Amino acid sequence: MIRFEQVAKRYSNGHVGLHELSFRVRPGEFLFVTGHSGAGKSTLLRLLLAMERPTSGKLLLAGQDLSTITNAQIPFLRRQIGVVFQNHQLLFDRTVYDNVALPLQILGLSKPEIGKRVGAALERVSLSDKAAQSPGDLSTGQQQRVGIARAIVHRPALLLADEPTGNLDPRLAAEIMGVFEDINQLGTTVLIASHDLALIARMRQRMLTLQRGRLIGDGEAA
Ligand code: ADP
Ligand code: ADP
Repeated sequence: MIRFEQVAKRYSNGHVGLHELSFRVRPGEFLFVTGHSGAGKSTLLRLLLAMERPTSGKLLLAGQDLSTITNAQIPFLRRQIGVVFQNHQLLFDRTVYDNVALPLQILGLSKPEIGKRVGAALERVSLSDKAAQSPGDLSTGQQQRVGIARAIVHRPALLLADEPTGNLDPRLAAEIMGVFEDINQLGTTVLIASHDLALIARMRQRMLTLQRGRLIGDGEAA
């Protein structure tokens, strides 16, 4: 699903985001990327989303070469990816339903198809009964689940999350991780950037550890 081959990213100001980084992720895997602030986690995510290009090396995502991808190909790449943000970025002047439907409206799907898929995505995060409410009426954990529903509603092959539990207490954080595991069980590859080592350790999943742009660990979190 993902292949980094000696991928380096140097920003125009001379900062190095990643030094020659190599690793592979098989379809259906669940993994964490961890490391202190500045380790390169965001750079890695931005490379996968083609928001940045590698300075050197080869980066493959679902068979597509992101080192040579054209701007015209990027929308097709993004359809295969779902993204969950730390501060969910929901629209508070729209209902939960409309927030989750948005990516499908952009894709131009029919209303009945959108209804079916939004219903299924909300069911997946146990929020079927909140569809008509505003995200502002929901708890923080529920808002983050809406963000996850929006990220999976177009059935991406890869789900990326950037510090998805950063604002949540430990109990809610564990609950959100459970949602990611459920989604992974359906076959979606899940990659979560997080520095919450205590939470990661309980998950017993693969963990890549970055330090100043270098991979210094790859194995089950213990
Ligand atoms: P993390 O997400 O783990 O905190 P980042 O990927 O944001 O790490 O940062 C890795 C390195 O790349 C840092 O030295 C940071 O200063 C640098 N960096 C990140 N983004 C940019 C940018 N847009 N321009 C210049 N340097 C950047
Ligand atoms: P249907 O054909 O009725 O949409 P599916 O089983 O294809 O039934 O999908 C039902 C819902 O389950 C989808 O709309 C989607 O929200 C969710 N879903 C399906 N596959 C995945 C997946 N790989 N990852 C996450 N959610 C999925």
